[in-house]
Amino acid sequence: MRLILLGPPGAGKGTQASGIVEKYSIPHISTGDIFRKNIKEGTELGNKAKDYMDKGLLVPDDLVVAIVKDRLTEDDCKEGFLLDGFPRTVAQADALDNELKNLDCKLDRALNIQVEKEELVERITGRRICKDCGATYHIKYNPPKADGICDKCGGELYQRKDDTVDTVTKRIEVYFNQTSPLIDYYTKKNILTNIDGEQSIDDVFEDIVKALGSEK
Ligand code: ADP
Ligand code: ADP
Ligand code: ZN
Repeated sequence: MRLILLGPPGAGKGTQASGIVEKYSIPHISTGDIFRKNIKEGTELGNKAKDYMDKGLLVPDDLVVAIVKDRLTEDDCKEGFLLDGFPRTVAQADALDNELKNLDCKLDRALNIQVEKEELVERITGRRICKDCGATYHIKYNPPKADGICDKCGGELYQRKDDTVDTVTKRIEVYFNQTSPLIDYYTKKNILTNIDGEQSIDDVFEDIVKALGSEK
């Protein structure tokens, strides 16, 4: 199954992605995670991406497209994949289309997780992430059993540098200007499904599984 997850920052893409990739045994490709890993390791790619990310702006298309193209040709993507946070512009979507044509396959579905603006800020500013395994928590909506410690691996939880009110406001604006046109883009291709993201994490997941029911 070849999937993409659309939705504004904080909609719950990463949270749902972990359940989806487990259920359907496909790799989770998060461009945000790839950039954060490169920043942590101090690579050239990380250095190029860092300033954009800190400001809440999109990293230039050519950089992102090159990474995703590389990733999609890896062996584990042969039977499918879940793209999370890519594409984010029409140019990226066109590039993805071309690459999938080269690989002789196509997307099965684009899931669009919908959440209102006010709720997004609340979700993002309360988000905490495990520094060891990447699991995502929320201080109010999905708290770990012990304060600041990951339930899954015991790792320390941290707050992303770009998860502040100011940067989030910018990221949401960028989403509505540059990424939301993709909703039309995939509607026209007849593969878009809207998912109500303002339900519990489990109920959102249930709707996603229903939406994917008939896909292989
Ligand atoms: P995205 O990847 O779309 O930016 P995340 O999956 O990281 O979003 O979720 C953002 C924050 O909201 C996290 O702290 C997460 O725990 C929380 N969250 C995710 N889904 C829900 C939900 N359905 N209800 C309440 N909080 C949620
Ligand atoms: P969220 O889902 O919370 O917005 P991500 O982890 O997906 O966050 O992305 C974090 C940052 O990484 C973005 O604000 C942007 O700077 C950069 N980024 C991630 N994916 C892309 C992409 N496809 N195109 C451009 N920039 C990206
Ligand atoms: Zn962990």
